[in-house]
Amino acid sequence: MQRPTGFQTSVQARRSELGRAQDCDSNRSPRVVVSVDFERRWGLHHRLGLDFDAYREHLENVEPVVSRLLQLFAARNIRATWAAVGALACRDWSEYFARAPRPPKYHNPGLAITRRYAELDLHGQLHFAPDLLRLVHASRGQELGTHTFSHILMREPGVTADDVTADLGAVAQLWRERFGAPPVSLVFPRNQVAFLPVIRSCGIRVWRGNEPGAHYDCNETSTNRPVARARRLLDAINPWARHAGALEGDMTRASLFLRTNLPAGAWALHCARIRNELDSLRHPRVFHIWWHDHNLGGDMPKRLARVEQVLDMVAERCQRGVLVSQCMGDLLERSAFVSTEAQHVRE
Ligand SMILES: [Zn+2]
Repeated sequence: MQRPTGFQTSVQARRSELGRAQDCDSNRSPRVVVSVDFERRWGLHHRLGLDFDAYREHLENVEPVVSRLLQLFAARNIRATWAAVGALACRDWSEYFARAPRPPKYHNPGLAITRRYAELDLHGQLHFAPDLLRLVHASRGQELGTHTFSHILMREPGVTADDVTADLGAVAQLWRERFGAPPVSLVFPRNQVAFLPVIRSCGIRVWRGNEPGAHYDCNETSTNRPVARARRLLDAINPWARHAGALEGDMTRASLFLRTNLPAGAWALHCARIRNELDSLRHPRVFHIWWHDHNLGGDMPKRLARVEQVLDMVAERCQRGVLVSQCMGDLLERSAFVSTEAQHVRE
């Protein structure tokens, strides 16, 4: 078979680019979704316990991290879902304890929020961020989703449907008061997917699922073993892995957890994986990339620069019209989202 010349290749590439640009016009573009699990210490208390010195720099830097991320997103027209722990919107511990439902009766009592945290973080600087949530809510293209009110771990033994209903009810109430409408997008804490009929009855319209593969579906304390963690790391730096997937009902599957802490060689492979995923993306698949607020709090300038590098890859392709940037709520049928869209995503 005759090999195409450089010119033919570039014409073919341009044609295919134009073809994809036309797809954009007909709303059939491949999509990139970003979600940020915004949780401060709520997402880590089960690991850190009463040690308030551990991981402190990461948690204290959440404020500059969030401000900078909002700037990076705005400069590139990147839309994102902020899956925020509801408690972050509280002003202080007294408001938290007034609003929070009774914790689930976890078989492992160390998973429940304890009043000791309030004594050890008296002013709540590691736990609350009402001004940052207001800032996210006021920012163009940013959706305020939820990560439950108290970061409840739904697959741990002892959690009931009533616990989930009460927790999501507390978020809905607070979001209505502060932001005008309840959230429609959910990220399950520790990616422990459970109680789907219950979360749907609480108003959740779209949720983030795990990456494909059994080693992504073992997030309970009892199953998250080193072998599964090692396999996930290998996937992250495998340039040939492809985890983008189409929306499955009301689930958008995660494609990649962004690992800004990798050593330089592994980071280059991670970027190659992202670049290859973006370049091979076709409708109806969605490339869904996510990380936590606190992941960027240590070694902050370097990690934020790495996020910028990835966002540039996405933005450059969006500008060429071969991809579109969306938040989780954008994935819903327009008719299903239209009633709450105005409150949740600033256009
Ligand atoms: Zn979390």
